Amino acid sequence: MISTQIQTAAYLFAGILFILSLGGLSSQESAKRGVLYGIIGMIIAIVTTVLGAQVEGHIYIVIAIALASIIGIFLARRVEMTSMPQLVAILHSFVGLAAVLVGFGSYLDPHTATLTGAAHSIHLIEVYIGVFIGAITFTGSVVAWGKLEGKIRSKALLYPGRHVINIILVIICIVLGVLFASAPGTEGMIHLYIMTAIASFIGVMLVMAIGGADMPVVVSMLNSYSGWAAAAAGFMLGNDLLIITGALVGSSGAILSIIMCKAMNRSFLSVIFGGFGNTTASGSAKEITGEVTASNHAEVAQLLKDAKSVIIVPGYGMAVAKAQYPVHELVQKLTEKGKTVRFGIHPVAGRLPGHMNVLLAEANVSYDIVLEMDEINEDFSETDLVLVIGANDIVNPSAKDDSSSPIYGMPVLEVWNANKTIVMKRSMASGYAGVQNPLFFHDNTDMLYGDAKDSVQKLNAQLQ
Ligand code: NDP
Repeated sequence: MISTQIQTAAYLFAGILFILSLGGLSSQESAKRGVLYGIIGMIIAIVTTVLGAQVEGHIYIVIAIALASIIGIFLARRVEMTSMPQLVAILHSFVGLAAVLVGFGSYLDPHTATLTGAAHSIHLIEVYIGVFIGAITFTGSVVAWGKLEGKIRSKALLYPGRHVINIILVIICIVLGVLFASAPGTEGMIHLYIMTAIASFIGVMLVMAIGGADMPVVVSMLNSYSGWAAAAAGFMLGNDLLIITGALVGSSGAILSIIMCKAMNRSFLSVIFGGFGNTTASGSAKEITGEVTASNHAEVAQLLKDAKSVIIVPGYGMAVAKAQYPVHELVQKLTEKGKTVRFGIHPVAGRLPGHMNVLLAEANVSYDIVLEMDEINEDFSETDLVLVIGANDIVNPSAKDDSSSPIYGMPVLEVWNANKTIVMKRSMASGYAGVQNPLFFHDNTDMLYGDAKDSVQKLNAQLQ
């Protein structure tokens, strides 16, 4: 057992480590250190909480932690890099579910029955709000997981009057909250159950209303919600560190959501409230007509030999094919031949914020040639050749010029301004947003069909 003073000091130390962890995660060079700070902080947090004065039944806690750790290690080792977003989404759902269960437990806890007056009212409000946020986070994250896993269609589910229904549901929850707070003893449990069911429904509908291309914002938004759910659990349990950690996750998730919204040119409020005012999300793009030109590896290798400047635009397909290593080899070969080679990274390329940066860093691609969309978009017009490797939505010109397209308004990498563009993918299939891409039909675009890794390896062989 440790004293409350030691526990408070340990919590403070862990809180500082979490802040340092977030700071570290802001750049690739310091990200590993950031993760390490987070791990140490979490170990300190768990150990000092378990050894705290009020904790009993250590044997059960140790068994639960051991079992959960085995499951966690097994799942995390098995998960493919391309499935990381699903893992993150499902982990958010656990935080939401935990907040709901802590809320139920806290309400039924006989110790809290001794609270009176304002302390009792505040506790009830904490429980109610915690369960509300937790239930939304839980079901919203499960739906997000389904959409990312492809089990639920990614198209936005928009029905007339949905905002009115959502507002009515929120008002019902407020009324139930008043009844809950005024119920004697634990008789408010029924109100809590009904509100949990309604909040769970709101969570489902909020995420169902968001279209495929806006999913990155939803993932970061649910990350933020899970933080607030954890903070609410911290209030219910009277655990300061959980409040601090929850607030850190909640606010950093909110900041990330705002950054993602800016990157996608979407209104933050419209995404938080489930496609509010998002009139284009359900549109269907213009019919595309024209001819597609298919190229082959020898032709593309020749284009690479002739080009002085090359920009590589990677997307989700590079992650699926695990093509980052041969891509690095290709960059080395081209650089040795005196060509300028750079990467153009779209903020929502792949299925996770920073997905492409992680893959390229894994393959040891130098950071200085990896440029963000804003840094490179103007340079396409002076570029000889663009290799689009497994990307689709992020290079779709209809985002700029087709107001009926579901992705209209989203900033994209304007690869079509280059002298020549090669799109490397397996077929004419659409990307995550489910819209056709007119880029493939442009005169200066050729398709190089096939698995990205296989294609890049063949190009490398031709460049020997
Ligand atoms: P897209 O999903 O738009 O396109 C990826 C393309 O890769 C597909 O059209 C597919 O075409 C191709 N592909 C798949 N496997 C392979 C392979 N083995 N070899 C070669 N090509 C392959 O990806 P983008 O990166 O362009 O855009 C990301 C999309 O995902 C955006 O709509 C974004 O909003 C969304 N999103 C992003 C998240 C994030 O946080 N970054 C989170 C959730 C969604 P084919 O089948 O013909 O090969």
